[in-house]
Order: sequence, then C-alpha cells, then structure tokens
Amino acid sequence: MLPLLLEAVGLKKHFPVTEGLVYQRVVGWIKAVDGIDFTVKHGETFGLVGESGCGKTTTSKLILLLETKTAGTLRFDGADIHGFNSTALKRYRASVQAVFQDPYSSLNPRMRVGDIVGEPLRINNVLSASALKERVEEVLTQVGLLPEAIARYPHEFSGGQRQRIAIARSLAPYSRLIVLDEPVSALDVSIRAQIMNLLQDLQQKLGLTFLLIAHNLATVRYMSKQVAIMYTGKIVEMGESDEIFTHPLHPYTQALFYAALPSHPRHRREESPLIGEVPNPLNPPPGCLFHPRCVYAKPVCRAEEPLLREEAPGHTVACHLY
Ligand code: SF4
Repeated sequence: MLPLLLEAVGLKKHFPVTEGLVYQRVVGWIKAVDGIDFTVKHGETFGLVGESGCGKTTTSKLILLLETKTAGTLRFDGADIHGFNSTALKRYRASVQAVFQDPYSSLNPRMRVGDIVGEPLRINNVLSASALKERVEEVLTQVGLLPEAIARYPHEFSGGQRQRIAIARSLAPYSRLIVLDEPVSALDVSIRAQIMNLLQDLQQKLGLTFLLIAHNLATVRYMSKQVAIMYTGKIVEMGESDEIFTHPLHPYTQALFYAALPSHPRHRREESPLIGEVPNPLNPPPGCLFHPRCVYAKPVCRAEEPLLREEAPGHTVACHLY
C-alpha cells in the first residue's frame, strides 16, 4: 500500500457573518468546510467533486495555507503542518504548489516566463542565479516548451502553452503535492486532453501527487484514483474513482452523475434529477443537508444527520438509505 502524503482530520473552516458598520457583531457562521476527513497517497491523484460553493476551493486554500483552519488537523508526511517551525513551513510551502483554472489571469503579463517560472525558487532563495536558470530551463523542457521561452512574455503564448508555463512554475521548487484547481476547464476542448496527458506523464516520471478540483466529471474520472464528493462543506461519499463512477450510492452523487455521464454520448440527458438549489449556508436545513432536494428523503432524514460509513470496502457514504 502507498504511504500517505496528506491527511485531513476533522478539518473545518467557518467564516463569520457580521452586521453593523461601526460596531460589527457576528450574526452567523458560514460553514464552508465542516469537519472533513480524507487521505491522499504518495503519487496518486485525489479528486474533489461538487457544485460551486460546496467547499472544494476552501479545502484547497487550507492546504495551500491561503486560509487558516477553524479546527481539525492537516498532516503532511505524517507531521501536523500547524505545528511546523519556520524552516519546516518554508519547506512545506515549496513542496505544495498550485495550478489554477485561468492561464490568462494567473500569469503576470509584465513578467518574462523565466521570472514567472523561477518565482517560487526565488521566494525560497534556494539556488544560485545560474542554478536557478538551469532549473527553469529544465522544467520548461519537462512541460514541452523550449528553453528559449525564458525571455518571452505570457501574451506570446496560446492558452495551452500558458497552462504549460503555469505547470512548469508549480514544478520548479521540486514540489511534491500540486493542487490542480480546474486545470483544463478554461482551455479549448482540443487542448484539454494534451494537458491532462502531460500532467499524468509528469506524475509518473516525477512521482507527483495531485489534489484535483474539477466540476467536469469526465476529467475527474480520467485523472483520479480516489474521489470525494462534497456537498455544503461535508464529504458525502468517497472511494476509489472506478467504484464511485460505476456504483454511485449517495442520491446527490447519482444526480450529479446522471446528466453529466450518460451511458452513451448520444444519450445526453437534458434534464437533471437535481431539484432545487444548494441550501442557504446561513440557514442550513436540519438533518441531512441534502434532504430538501432528495427524491428519497424520509422522516429520519429531516431529523438526523447521516454519518459517513463504509458501505463497501473502501467506499464510504453518508446517507440513511444505507
Ligand atoms: Fe436523501 Fe435521506 Fe440519504 Fe439525505 S439521508 S441523501 S435525504 S435519503
């Protein structure tokens, strides 16, 4: 069994909602991430799936230390990252990088490609100028660009090439975990497969671990070994990607997959069985958070919150049907 690289235990991020201009008082809490547990193994891709506002991006921000947790633990290589001293924290920040959705806005248009790609190395001040240039040329070659790209600006490249530059930047500090936040959704359909294949090749060659956030289920299925489905800040189903995509158990997962993954491309369904809206996070329903939208809801669903339980080996689900 592969060793764990990242482990989240009871991870929470609650945002206060305040009222009043001068004397602000807290009138409620938005539970963006509300007590999630998951593990990511070395060299694997872990996919996070759900509608917008379900907590995927906040989870990735907690991992990237762009948000501070409200509660819970995040372990990297077995060590609690919130107990790191400044040296360990610096090493962690270099080891965990991100590639974002839009390669047009994520690359500074005023910086040359060499400076963009070398930035994480300069921040951590780990290499001499000549070694830094050598490293930048190496990662540009690894993503299929010519070393001469160093002297050019982002606007001289196509969308796919820009995403390759963003990937090169994420590789530069010898990173181990890369958060891929919708890495192909802003690209032309014809380019998406090239970038996904590149990411998989890099993963195999360099032993990288990916946390993949994507609303496109086909992308998640293609890339991920493990998948977690999030709904209003909680994980409602989790397991091996093959198992989840062939035997989805939670009514939310089933509804999400129903329209997106038809059994035949010609059978694309127009109507989704997902009724209603994601609940107001300031006033969530009691019991199962999905019950106002669930066609299988029964009285217990309105009263008791279902806990995540193992229904099949390695396949967990939070639903009173099981
Ligand atoms: Fe539907 Fe009840 Fe399961 Fe929630 S617990 S998903 S309401 S059946």
